[in-house]
Amino acid sequence: VRWTEGRGWHDAQLVPYAPLQIDPANMMLHYGQGIFEGLKAYRQPDGTVATFRPFANAERFRASARRLAMPELPEETFVAAIDALVRQDSAWVPEHGGEASLYIRPFMFATEVGLGVKPANEYLFMVIASPAGAYFPGGVKPVSVWLSEEYVRAAPGGTGAAKCAGNYAASLVAQAQAAEHGCDQVVWLDAAERRWIEEMGGMNLYFVYGEGRDARVVTPALTGTLLPGITRQSLLEIAADLGYRVGEERISVEEWRNACADGTLTEVFACGTAAVITPVGSVKSTSADWTVADGEPGEVTMRLRRALLELQTGVAADTHNWMHPLG
Ligand code: PMP
Repeated sequence: VRWTEGRGWHDAQLVPYAPLQIDPANMMLHYGQGIFEGLKAYRQPDGTVATFRPFANAERFRASARRLAMPELPEETFVAAIDALVRQDSAWVPEHGGEASLYIRPFMFATEVGLGVKPANEYLFMVIASPAGAYFPGGVKPVSVWLSEEYVRAAPGGTGAAKCAGNYAASLVAQAQAAEHGCDQVVWLDAAERRWIEEMGGMNLYFVYGEGRDARVVTPALTGTLLPGITRQSLLEIAADLGYRVGEERISVEEWRNACADGTLTEVFACGTAAVITPVGSVKSTSADWTVADGEPGEVTMRLRRALLELQTGVAADTHNWMHPLG
């Protein structure tokens, strides 16, 4: 779907996957007006296909567009484009039963040609998709994380809450540092104090205090510098459905470390569209290393993971009306 100033949205088309031709002076290449989304379609028990919360992605996409001075795509157009592609590609949606899905990537970028810094007057919105296998084919494995004190992902007033290409470009050196320290993922801290936990490279974080039915499930509050994950939001509701106490709070590095030392923090996990839920087993920073409990996936983490996947694959009842069937 194209957008042109004075004309609005036009020319919706379903076309075979093919390279694009880009002018060397395309404004996105120079000034980075590019935003995207990620969501999944799952095969349901009756063989039909449904996407998980596409209207939530549509809303976040509009928020990202506003932050980058791009036009806001109507939610119905966003979801209709995804529906059209998934219908066309429905044979690529894996069978019901496992954790495999069709990963869907909507995105939009400036197409105006010019070298002046200003919002472009033309954009292209596209959707592509690819089958995605289970994130942990050999069983869920906890990740190790590196607390990034040198680099920050987002600063107040910046683009942290938007899903824009530049945020990911800026995160790559910290991810490389995490790997140099033998860690799987980077955890971002706040820009001002490098003290408050924000999120992981492509996932939000959750902290579990206590055990069993009495557990309290807490995620860092949205401050404008972390991405409002749709999995994060869904889990606040699923955890409450399962009877856990839930909270959105500021959590500091000292708190994370001390609460692991005294045993009050029993589990930590990350969540996002790609991995659903990933346990965090160990933490490293320039000043300290520690493990979360015994470093193994926790009971609350795995219970929430199962509940979310059962909902997405149509095994559990969709009490929140989150699944969008393609019919
Ligand atoms: N934080 C970042 C930086 C991300 O890229 C993602 C993935 N979109 C998330 C969190 C998780 O968001 P969601 O649950 O919507 O996939």
